[in-house]
Amino acid sequence: MLVKCPNCQSKARISSSSEITLTIRDLYCQCSDIKNCGATFVMSLAFKHYLNPPASTTQQLAANLINHLPKEQRKELLQGDFFGN
Ligand SMILES: [Zn+2]
Repeated sequence: MLVKCPNCQSKARISSSSEITLTIRDLYCQCSDIKNCGATFVMSLAFKHYLNPPASTTQQLAANLINHLPKEQRKELLQGDFFGN
């Protein structure tokens, strides 16, 4: 992962990181241009959103929807009649 110095835009090195929550980390960084800048700083790395939900979530959603169907519709769906198969 490339981190740039917010002061001089030089490449920065991540020296360490610490977990803030399961989805947020603090990255401790040092600017590589030690001669002219030498800044050290903290960047945040955070989860934003899924592009595809995890398989377990998709299966749970499908199971919840199917379980709320009337018994006859559930039977049709599971037999493939619902999709014209
Ligand atoms: Zn810098």
